[in-house]
Amino acid sequence: MKDIFEKCRNFNIVKELEEKGIYPYFKVLESEQAPEVMIEGKKFIMFGSNNYLGLANDHRMKQASKDAIEKFGTGVAGSRFLNGNTTLHTRLENQLAKFKGREAALIYATGYQMNLGVVSALVSKGDMVIVDKLDHASILDGCKLSGAEIKRFKHNDLNDLEKVLSKAGEDIGKLVVVDGVFSMEGDIAPLPEISKLCKKYKARLIVDDAHATGVMGDNGRGTCEYFGLEHNEVDLIVGTCSKSFASVGGFVVGDKEVIHYIQHMSRSMIFSAGLPPASVAAISKAIEIIESEPERRKRLWENSNYLLESFKNMGCNTGHTKTPIIPILIGDNEKTFTLWRALFDNGIFTNPVVSPAVPPKRTLMRVVVTASHTREQLDRALNVFETFYKKIIKKKVFHKV
Ligand code: PMP
Repeated sequence: MKDIFEKCRNFNIVKELEEKGIYPYFKVLESEQAPEVMIEGKKFIMFGSNNYLGLANDHRMKQASKDAIEKFGTGVAGSRFLNGNTTLHTRLENQLAKFKGREAALIYATGYQMNLGVVSALVSKGDMVIVDKLDHASILDGCKLSGAEIKRFKHNDLNDLEKVLSKAGEDIGKLVVVDGVFSMEGDIAPLPEISKLCKKYKARLIVDDAHATGVMGDNGRGTCEYFGLEHNEVDLIVGTCSKSFASVGGFVVGDKEVIHYIQHMSRSMIFSAGLPPASVAAISKAIEIIESEPERRKRLWENSNYLLESFKNMGCNTGHTKTPIIPILIGDNEKTFTLWRALFDNGIFTNPVVSPAVPPKRTLMRVVVTASHTREQLDRALNVFETFYKKIIKKKVFHKV
C-alpha cells in the first residue's frame, strides 16, 4: 500500500546541502528588518529584504501599531465578513483607493490570499485566464483554484500573448494577469501594449504591483503611474503590504461594483480571519509616510542605480532589471549556492534563486536594495562581491538573456 509519507522520509536534498554548508533558507533573524541584521550572533548587511523604503523599523510605524493594539487588541478573532471588520480596516481601504486613484479597495490578510481570492472570484470553468510564465506563484495558484482554463505566454512576449488571445474565441470570458515588476529579475511588464491587446480581444487585465507599489512612478503609486496609464487601461491593480508598506496584507483596487462583487465572492476573504489591527494601522501609517516623504523613494533609486551600475562594471550579468531588484544571473545551482555561502561568510545576506524555482540557465543571486542602505554599506558589499564573484563565477557559465 502506498504511504504518502514515504516521500518525506526520502527527502534528502536539504540535508545534503546542510552537510556541504550551503543550505541558505529559513535563516533565523535575531533583530528587526533593517539594513544591518543579526543572524547567529553575527552582523549582516541585508540584501534580501523587500523593505524597499526602509519603513519596517520606523518608530512612527511601531507607534501606530502599538496604538492600534491598545484600542482594538491583538487580533480580530474572525472573518471580516462576520465579526472581524474594524474602522481601521475600512479607513485603510478608503486611503488605499485614494492612493491608487481608484474607486474602491479591498484588503486581505496576505498578498498570496488576495491573488487566490481575486482570480478565483472573477473567472471559473468555461473562462480562460492568461498569465505570463514568470508570474508570481500566488497568481498561478489562484488560476488553478478558479477552474478556468489556464494559458501561459512567454515572459513579456507580446506576440505570444496575442497568439493566445486570438485563439481563445470571442465567446469565452478572458482575464490576463501579469506582474507589474517581476519578483525575481526586477524587469517590468510592457503594460501599455498588454493593455491594448486586452482591449482588442476584450480581455480584462489585472496587474500585480507587489514590487511596484511605493517604488514606481513619481508618487510611488505603481506601474500604472510609471507608464502614465489611465483608469480604463488596467482593470484592477493588486498588491501586497509586505514590501514597501512594511507590514503584511494584500489589496485589490478598482471599480466599486467589481470590488463589491469580489468582497462577497472571494473565498480567501470570507473563510479566513481579517488582518490584525497592528498590521492594518502600520499600512495606513506607511501610506501617509510614502505620500509625505518622497525623498525616501529618491534615495531608493539613487541606491538602486548605484548598485546596478557597479555590478555591471564588475562584469555581472544583471538581466533586464530596471528596479531595485537586481538579479546576478549565474546559471548553475552549485555555483549560486557557493557564491551565496562566500557572501554569507563575509557578512552579506542575499537570496539565491535556483532550479527548479527558475530554469537551470537562469539561477541567480537576488539582491534587493532599500532606501536606508548607506553608501558605505553598499561599497562594503560590492568589495566582498567583487572578490568572490570573480573567483567562483567563471565567464563561461554566462547565458545570454
Ligand atoms: N505577488 C507578488 C508579485 C509577490 O512577489 C508576492 C510576494 N513575494 C505576493 C504576490 C504575495 O504577497 P504576500 O507576501 O503578501 O503573501
